[in-house]
Amino acid sequence: MAMHPFAYANANSLEEAAANLDGETRPLAGGTDLVALMKDGLVAPKRLVNLKTVPGLAGVVAHADGLHIGALTTLSNLASNPELQERRDLAALVEALEESATPQLRHTATIGGNLLQWPRCWYFRNPQVPCWRKGGRRCFAFQGENKYHTIFGGGPCFAPHPSDPSVALMALDASVLVVGPQDRDHRNGFRVVPLAEFFVLPRRDHEWADGYHPVTLLETDEIVAAVVVPQAADGARSAFVKVMERGAWDFALVSAAVSLTMDGNRVAASRVVLGGVAPIPWRANQAEAALRGERVSEDGVARAVRAAVADARPLGHNEYKVALAKQALAQAFRALA
Ligand SMILES: Cc1cc2nc3c(=O)[nH]c(=O)nc-3n(C[C@H](O)[C@H](O)[C@H](O)COP(=O)(O)OP(=O)(O)OC[C@H]3O[C@@H](n4cnc5c(N)ncnc54)[C@H](O)[C@@H]3O)c2cc1C
Repeated sequence: MAMHPFAYANANSLEEAAANLDGETRPLAGGTDLVALMKDGLVAPKRLVNLKTVPGLAGVVAHADGLHIGALTTLSNLASNPELQERRDLAALVEALEESATPQLRHTATIGGNLLQWPRCWYFRNPQVPCWRKGGRRCFAFQGENKYHTIFGGGPCFAPHPSDPSVALMALDASVLVVGPQDRDHRNGFRVVPLAEFFVLPRRDHEWADGYHPVTLLETDEIVAAVVVPQAADGARSAFVKVMERGAWDFALVSAAVSLTMDGNRVAASRVVLGGVAPIPWRANQAEAALRGERVSEDGVARAVRAAVADARPLGHNEYKVALAKQALAQAFRALA
C-alpha cells in the first residue's frame, strides 16, 4: 500500500497548531499510531502538524488543582517521574505505564497520543474491511472473530479501547485540558474535560468529516494540551493489573485499576475501572457502590467483583473475559488490602 503524499509543519505554539487543524490536517505526536495508520492507508491526512516542537508541552508540573502532565510527555519519562514513583495514590498510573507496549515505544509514544490512539481491532486495522468505525455500515466483529472484543458497552462498534494508562487515569479521576476555537466553551483558551466524558461510546451521530467515528469527544480542530490528575485524599492508594495473552509487550485482554480512600478500615470512596472490555475505559459503578462502607475483606471483594461484571454481555468468542475481569479486579484489590 503506497503512502499518500502529505505536507508537514512544525508548530511553534499550541495556538498556532490548533489554528492549523481541520479534518484534513492532523496533529502528530510520537507518531507510533498515526504513522502506522498512514502507512497502512487507513488514514490519509493532507498535512501533519508536529506538536513536538511546541515548547512546554512535555513534563509534569504541580498546580493547585493537581498534577499537570503535558500531553507530549513520553510514557517512559512519565513512568520514571520521581513524584509519580513515590506516591502510593498514583501507583496505578506508574504500573499501567510500565506495562504499556515496549521500552522502545514508550520512549517515543506520548501520553496524549496514547489516550487518542485508535482501536487495535483486526477488522478496523485491515484496509480491505469497511468497518463501522471507519465509516462503513457494520461491525464485522459482532458476528465474526470477536475473541478480543468487548463485553460491555459494545455497538455499533465492538472494539475495546486499547490504552492502559487511560484505565489508571480514569481511576484517578483525571481530566484533560483541551485547546481549540474560542467559541466552543473554552475558558482562557482551555476546556477542561473529565476523562469520564472525554471517552465516548460509539454513536451513529458522532462522526468526523472523513466518516470515522472517533473514540473521544475531541473535534478535529482541538488539541489535548495536558492531563490533570487531581490531588487525592490523604491515604489514598491505587493499583493496576493487566492480563495479556503473551507474557509481555501485548495489549490488554483485560485490565483493572482501583483507587481506594479508607475511613479507618472501611472504604470511604473508590473508583473501579476495567480496561480491554469496552469501547472506552469502563467504570464499574456497581462495584464501587458495593464497596462503600465495607472492609476490603475477602467477602467484600467477592461482592464487588461480582457486581462489576453483573451487566457483562459477552460476544460469541469472549465469555472468558468475564472470568478474567473478575480475577484482574480481585488481584488489584488484594494488592491494596
Ligand atoms: C506494537 C505496539 C504495542 C503497543 N502496546 C500498547 C500497550 O500495551 N498499551 C497501550 O496503552 N498502548 C500500546 N500501544 C499504543 C501506543 O502506546 C500508542 O501508539 C501511543 O501511545 C500513541 O502515542 P503517540 O505519541 O505515538 O501518538 P501519535 O501516533 O502521534 O498520535 C495518535 C493519535 O492521536 C492524535 N494526537 C496525538 N497527540 C495529540 C494531542 N496532544 N492532541 C490531539 N490529538 C493528538 C494524532 O493525530 C493521532 O490521531 C502499542 C503500540 C504498538 C505499535
